Amino acid sequence: MKILIVEDEPDLLESIAQSLEKESFLVEKAMDFDTALDKLLIYEYDCILLDIGLPNGSGLDLLKELKKENRKGSVIIISAKDSLDDKLAGLDLGADDYLVKPFHLAELNARVRSVLRRKKFGGQNTVELRNVSIDFSARTVKINKADLVLNRKEFDILTYFVSNKNRLVNKTSLAEHVWGDQIDEADNFEFIYSQIKNLRKKLKDHNAKIEIQAVYGLGYKLIET
Ligand code: CA
Repeated sequence: MKILIVEDEPDLLESIAQSLEKESFLVEKAMDFDTALDKLLIYEYDCILLDIGLPNGSGLDLLKELKKENRKGSVIIISAKDSLDDKLAGLDLGADDYLVKPFHLAELNARVRSVLRRKKFGGQNTVELRNVSIDFSARTVKINKADLVLNRKEFDILTYFVSNKNRLVNKTSLAEHVWGDQIDEADNFEFIYSQIKNLRKKLKDHNAKIEIQAVYGLGYKLIET
């Protein structure tokens, strides 16, 4: 799961980032309005943590852009002001949640998990696909009730496919999602192919009734078999 933190206070930005990375989220950062806008228009995020008071602009205007572009990521506003007007404006513009600074990082983590669960997996912590069961908070996978051991990237790849079940996933969006925004500067995508190959083999060896199909020249698709 990839999260963008838009926050101009460096200390707060770093502590939020570290706390989310510890929870195995992939974290991207923006410290001012223009950087945030660039990132939001180019990349997709599962969740955006959005400060309102930013150098060169307001987080609420970023929210308007997101709405205009019809982006599907969740948004949690993190604001210094406990202002009802800002809160209502933010929720009106499609924000999913609103947290007033200062907050506990544990509280923020819980809210992030909650909006992601709600949006991606209908509020569930666990998703069952045929004989495969995936627990997103424990980050475990079972096939026919037996544990399937995946490395971190394999788990992230599987989660991304599950949240895009039956949809074509191209390798660029998969790469950005699992490895981060800078991946478009990579020379080649060999490391992605090898992770996917391993994941497909593990699923097959354990008789999973789901399969990651290669769609020649376009990408991949997760299907139930
Ligand atoms: Ca600020």
